[in-house]
Amino acid sequence: MLALLLALQAVQSPLAQRSDSAVPVHDALHYDIALTIPDTGNVISGRVETVWLIAGPEPLAIDLDSAMVVSSFQTPGRRAGIGTWRREGGRLLLPQRLQVGDTLVTRIQYTGVPAAGLVFATNGSGQRVVFADNWPDQARRWFPSHDYPGDKASVAFHVEVAAGMQVRANGVLERVDTVAAGHAVWHYRIREPIPTYTMVVGAAHFAVTPMGNAACQLKCVPQSVWTFPIDSAWSVDGPFRAVNAMVDLFTEQFGTYPYEELAHVQAVTQYGGVENSGAIWYDNKAIARHTFPERTVAHEIGHQWFGDGVTEGDWHHLWLSEGFATYLAALWAEHAGGDSALAAAMSGAAQSVFKSKITERPILDFETMDLMGLLNSNNYPKGSWVLHSLRGLVGDSTFFAGMQLYYARFRNGNALSSDFAAAMNETAGQDLTWYFLQALTQPGYPDLVVRAAQAGDSLTLTIRQVQPEAWGTYRMPGLEFLVDGRLLRVDVEGRESTASFSGFAVAPEKIRVDPGGWWLHTTRIE
Ligand SMILES: [Zn+2]
Repeated sequence: MLALLLALQAVQSPLAQRSDSAVPVHDALHYDIALTIPDTGNVISGRVETVWLIAGPEPLAIDLDSAMVVSSFQTPGRRAGIGTWRREGGRLLLPQRLQVGDTLVTRIQYTGVPAAGLVFATNGSGQRVVFADNWPDQARRWFPSHDYPGDKASVAFHVEVAAGMQVRANGVLERVDTVAAGHAVWHYRIREPIPTYTMVVGAAHFAVTPMGNAACQLKCVPQSVWTFPIDSAWSVDGPFRAVNAMVDLFTEQFGTYPYEELAHVQAVTQYGGVENSGAIWYDNKAIARHTFPERTVAHEIGHQWFGDGVTEGDWHHLWLSEGFATYLAALWAEHAGGDSALAAAMSGAAQSVFKSKITERPILDFETMDLMGLLNSNNYPKGSWVLHSLRGLVGDSTFFAGMQLYYARFRNGNALSSDFAAAMNETAGQDLTWYFLQALTQPGYPDLVVRAAQAGDSLTLTIRQVQPEAWGTYRMPGLEFLVDGRLLRVDVEGRESTASFSGFAVAPEKIRVDPGGWWLHTTRIE
């Protein structure tokens, strides 16, 4: 009974809440994807074998956009207990009466013109290029899948293209076969489970630059840069020159890189960068313009640990991916440029939060069902502030140890905010749930008015929280004040907090609030 009550409480915590519209029952374990990319036009054909772990009596429900026409749906090696498949909108349903824990292989052949998700384009040099652009749920546009972040799987790709095109996909290139009609089949494999939104293929004429190995202190990670030939020299000497130092840094801070290799790929994508596992896509136009920034490289590399290695179990916990990657880019800035670079990154993040309307909503916003809308200042810069303030609260050694525990525990799996909070609570040896609830479920940020009153030998600091009622109030334990060179600490809580300090015979001349820059706040000194 007690266990049940505790379990109920855990489920009811907003830190553990899920609100995605669809959650799959069964578990995709592995996809084997054979794809033919045509020499001209954009009709693709595919054959996908998937290994499923059966978890209940429900039909297998596989996402596949209706633009993909299925010519064959088989279950090799199994007939008993399998019904007849049918299409229902964007899903293929296969009734089954297998035992929980059974595995089932489906083999689906299909053809069609992807309405999205797999983009056919011409690059700046007039060459034909093809790139997957899945985020958040567009993988289903070009291959049958459980297209949800909560169902990760390993994947092998066998991609047939015209001679002269090269293919990049997740993982390790196993071999290239020459086949009929001057075509080649490129075979890639990634052994670790990854989310479908990062399962990608790209085909183009690339210049490939090996960048050597990173992270050999734990396990060497070979890296490479794949760009269109004309953009190769600028890319390798510019935004990608520090990729080994970045992987070294994050390995040291968080643990082993989750995959075997890392390729940095100039690609056609609607985003500045996409953290595809082991094969990151970067906006080809910004690279061609030579305006592509190094911080995006750090952000996407950071995602390999957080977002890819540990994936949000529900889209509404996206800050576990984007807030983390944004903070890892700030950590790279700190490593490369010192305290002032970190301060500049966090100040830029704060400004985005202050001017965004979404600040009126909490980071964990279970009411929104607009996945693209989740790419907002709550999940990116404000999410990065959740980590930064946490670091200020518990100190560097606890913060990084907690991050390492969380990564080690959920690597190649999924997590919710409650899982991160639990890892941090455990590492810190204190219950920080109040902090996570405040940071993730309250909108806004503290807007402080500070008054300093000197009388006799003492100075009294009064801190009022004047932010809108709807935002609530915030706890800021040990908020620091630098008063004429003396560091004072006040436990700020509720609408008004006061503290008195002796040794102030005269009125102070200079007061700085939060001189270390650990809290997201606006402050006025009266
Ligand atoms: Zn990101």
